[in-house]
Amino acid sequence: MSVGYQRFESVDLTGTSDSYAKLNNNPQFHEVDRLFEDRLRQFIDKNGGYKDLNLPKFYDRGRIDKKKQHDDDQIYIGLQVYSVPNLQRPLFKEVIPEKLSEFKSSSKGDSFGPGWATFWFRITFKISQSWIDAKQQILFEWDCGNEGLIYSKEGVPQQALTGGGERTEFILPESWYIDGEEHVFYLEMACNGMSGGVNGGSRFSLSKADLVLPNVEARALHYDFWILSDAARELSATSWQKHKARNLCNEIMNAFDPNDEATINKCRFLAKSFLGKDIDSAKVYDKKVKKIDVYAVGNCHIDTAWLWPFAETKRKVVRSWTSQINLMERYPEYKFVASQAQQFQWLKKYHPEIFSKVKAKISETQFFPIGGSWVENDTNLPSGESLSRQFLLGQRFFLDNFGFKSDTYWLPDTFGYSSQIPQLCRLADMPTFLTQKLSWNNINRFPNTTFNWVAIDGSQVLCHMPPDNTYTASADFGDVKRSLAQHTNLGTDQSGLLLYGKGDGGGGPTPEMLEKLRRCRGLTNTVDSDLPVVQVGPSIEEFYENILKTTNNGKTLPSWKGELYLEYHRGTYTTQAEVKKFMRSTEFLLHDLEYLATLASVQYPDDYSYPLDTLHEIWENTCLCQFHDVLPGSSIEMVYKDEVKPMLRKNLQKLGNLIEEIFDIFKEKQQVKQGSTSNGNVVCINSLPFPRSGLFEISNERYASLSLDIKNIQTGYKNDKNLVYLESASDSYHIMKPIANRIKNGAQISYNEKDKTYILSNSKLKATINSNGVITSLVDLANGEREVISLSDSGRNTRGGNQFVVFDDQPLNFPAWDTELYSLDKYKYLENPTKIEIVSEGPLRASLKVKHSIGAESWISTTISLDAVNDEAENDSGVSFLVFENEVEWHETYKFLKVEFPVDINSDFASYETQFGLTKRATHFNTSWEAAKFEVCSHKFADYSDFNYGVSILNDSKYGFSIHGNLMRLSLLRSPKSPDATADMGHHEFKYALYPHKGSLGVDTVRAGYIFNDRLSSLKKDESIFTQGLDSDIFPQLVEITGDSNLILSNVKRGEDDEGISSVETNLQKKFVGSKTIILRVYESLGGKSKGFINVDLPIEKVFKVNLLEEELEEIDVVEGKDGKNGFDITLRGFEIASYRVVFSN
Ligand SMILES: [Zn+2]
Repeated sequence: MSVGYQRFESVDLTGTSDSYAKLNNNPQFHEVDRLFEDRLRQFIDKNGGYKDLNLPKFYDRGRIDKKKQHDDDQIYIGLQVYSVPNLQRPLFKEVIPEKLSEFKSSSKGDSFGPGWATFWFRITFKISQSWIDAKQQILFEWDCGNEGLIYSKEGVPQQALTGGGERTEFILPESWYIDGEEHVFYLEMACNGMSGGVNGGSRFSLSKADLVLPNVEARALHYDFWILSDAARELSATSWQKHKARNLCNEIMNAFDPNDEATINKCRFLAKSFLGKDIDSAKVYDKKVKKIDVYAVGNCHIDTAWLWPFAETKRKVVRSWTSQINLMERYPEYKFVASQAQQFQWLKKYHPEIFSKVKAKISETQFFPIGGSWVENDTNLPSGESLSRQFLLGQRFFLDNFGFKSDTYWLPDTFGYSSQIPQLCRLADMPTFLTQKLSWNNINRFPNTTFNWVAIDGSQVLCHMPPDNTYTASADFGDVKRSLAQHTNLGTDQSGLLLYGKGDGGGGPTPEMLEKLRRCRGLTNTVDSDLPVVQVGPSIEEFYENILKTTNNGKTLPSWKGELYLEYHRGTYTTQAEVKKFMRSTEFLLHDLEYLATLASVQYPDDYSYPLDTLHEIWENTCLCQFHDVLPGSSIEMVYKDEVKPMLRKNLQKLGNLIEEIFDIFKEKQQVKQGSTSNGNVVCINSLPFPRSGLFEISNERYASLSLDIKNIQTGYKNDKNLVYLESASDSYHIMKPIANRIKNGAQISYNEKDKTYILSNSKLKATINSNGVITSLVDLANGEREVISLSDSGRNTRGGNQFVVFDDQPLNFPAWDTELYSLDKYKYLENPTKIEIVSEGPLRASLKVKHSIGAESWISTTISLDAVNDEAENDSGVSFLVFENEVEWHETYKFLKVEFPVDINSDFASYETQFGLTKRATHFNTSWEAAKFEVCSHKFADYSDFNYGVSILNDSKYGFSIHGNLMRLSLLRSPKSPDATADMGHHEFKYALYPHKGSLGVDTVRAGYIFNDRLSSLKKDESIFTQGLDSDIFPQLVEITGDSNLILSNVKRGEDDEGISSVETNLQKKFVGSKTIILRVYESLGGKSKGFINVDLPIEKVFKVNLLEEELEEIDVVEGKDGKNGFDITLRGFEIASYRVVFSN
């Protein structure tokens, strides 16, 4: 007897109906997978022709939109509306009750506008006893295609409604109707979509204002079927689970009867055979699993400004986060992260009651503040100090308000990440980093998902890029699947983060996303499949901790050194030039103010108090404007015109005024010292941390008071200004005085009639400029008469330096953001100047002015100057540069203006200044990775050097650069028409300079970058100029750094935790009661371990090395310094950023 025979015996082959039949009279067809899969869409399609024959028929058990008509009406809903005048955005308390008399009757079908207008609705309603008796949720459904926020009658925000079919339902709190009486609530309507998307003419039509009694089970079946049918479509074709899911879906559809509501339960029973029985609660996540594959965390990326202004963002925050708090109440497993201290601060100010709710949800570990920076900032353009302040402000806000710091620098959407970010992160106490933006690369695919990202100094952060390549996932089956399937280094890490939730314009996760995730997890709990195990519940912190646990503390992970260059959005280094210039000026003047205020407050504590609160305000505004769609130039006109430019202008004015106040103190002290006598000399303040010399502009009136022996007779200079040559005094490099004698070897200019060229020269350089204003030769006289310009036929530009080029600039996408590789092939050189003239003949400054027409209404006027150098000066560094000052009238369309310098240098790499260091990039296009960097970001200078010689290009406000072959190219102005059609139109002023130097890149270039950007000497009323003189005992050199000159003392400020310099209430402890402290920031600028000494003018009690948050890392010994002063030794790694706290003895 065979085994098989036995089996058949047990199955029963007797031929009865419940056994295997002998005859087959009912043939079955072989499944046609595609048809049975396509059919599934019909079951939950709300808009299809079969919707009344399928599940949508049952979504509502009742729906009412009728107004009250009779006194005894049992159920009704009524609307009244108040139209806020002048596009204002008043708070609840400014409208109710004050404006109640101005509310007018309104109803479904009404339309509202224009774009950016605000309306307040008063909603009255009553629920009938039969609905109350159903003992289930009752919904208010509202859709006007724009954003709204529901307020209780007491004025407490409840939940946002975003329209367009998204987030249109609000579960009415039971207490609002349970008594069967009429109740009232309010709704604030903002006439803009989630993604802005409006113009002045926009109107929004109210399509829904209903009371709904939903069929909860029918809606649950909708989610069941959604995930099941996704499984049928997306599970691996070779898995039995895919086919089983499809069959099950078909079975559900067959079991469903549109005339029998009870069949819904039967359908759900079938669904649960595949999804498990726990999908209706958080219990589904309790099942023990061997391994969590996907960690799902909610977020709501609120761009702080973009296609809407800051003013709207303040409302987006309260809208988005109240919705999320609501979700947390309904879904206990739910965790949500929100970044940007600025947004928390707005919430705290405008909606303190919601801020308290957020804090409660933080303590219940459902709401997680994250990010550690003031906003989700750009990291290409802000200075090193700006990035430091993003963290100082951000982390201290978190500490002050929540009692903890963020571990993670959260920048999902920023346009590329500079090579110093890992170091700055570690110094801000953030060991982990998150972005996904590199998935947008338009040339190369970034090779790692989880990796160690290493800064130029060697510091590392643990970086994860969510494999789903989005931070706004819908939490679909496919999102869960891709969160592992698209992980690019599964060999070393086997987990993925899924960031879900409506985003960009805020919003965040919707209930349906949490319902879908429960079902995805239910599926993996119930049937084996290739769907990864998703968990809702662990925090981002736990996610990163798990990676460290499974990778031997990250040691087995791949690493990536240097910048995370985004191969996209390369136009953002240039777009909105004026904002970028304001930012550079702000950064420099903030440096100056902090240095001067530190000095004055320490030196003259009775006369001057450090303005910490005002500085915070200015820094907060500055950091706000560094948001990743603001400073890069990708916001709408309204953002720049109404908010950013006025804010930055006001900042600059404030900075000027505050600096003037400090100067007044020094002037007064000097006056007291010397009485009415004046030494007749002019003195200028140098706020930079090294000695310098050079020309300063001075009014004729002040010039007249100078003693004769120091005046050089300048020919042809501007009428109302004169020039004076100053250099740092020997006892303090912060005080600049006129040199004792006149300049001997001045600058000069001559015209050569024969070949129609101009020769501009001083003792260091000789430039030949042709009739087109182009430098055809630049000879370095001091270094063997070396020619700097290359007119080689093998180069792209054979014309010469300062050649303007206008490129066609028609990117494939995102005009304000993008410029494409192909644009480099279509261009025109500017030729035939409309005017060329000598405007200054020397001996202090020799200048030639050239004007070119660009288009019908556009022109550029360039003044090319060479200044005298004082060869005999004690501090003469031998630095001389050719300066190009430009005025442009710019009215172009999709054109990109750049300037080119072909130079006689050949090296594989060029250096571009970045925050506190350099980023080196190839000057060739060997690989697609190098070609992708055809346009890159640079700060104050870019340098192209070989072993013997180099050329630096300095700039005062530009960031776009490229150096390839023998060509150095600086990007000047763009003209994208979207999203701001007026971007960069109008007048511009900027300057750049060419600095040739012997040897490779050195400290002279680093210093020249600072000198060229000095704003102090150009403050509006000559504030930095002291005509009565200034002595070093009145204006002492508080701090001086000696030793390796590549160590730069970049910033000096007072300690944040000093007593008596702030009147703002804070939970942070004042650590230095009774003492004064200063913070010094030093960085190694060129890439090599270096030693130095910090000499301090006042008696030091203690010195600590601190991090960017001014938290102590280690104590440092105080030793004797020069001239009887004291100080301390420092040693820095190459490109290290080091901060020190000096505590002064009392
Ligand atoms: Zn964004």
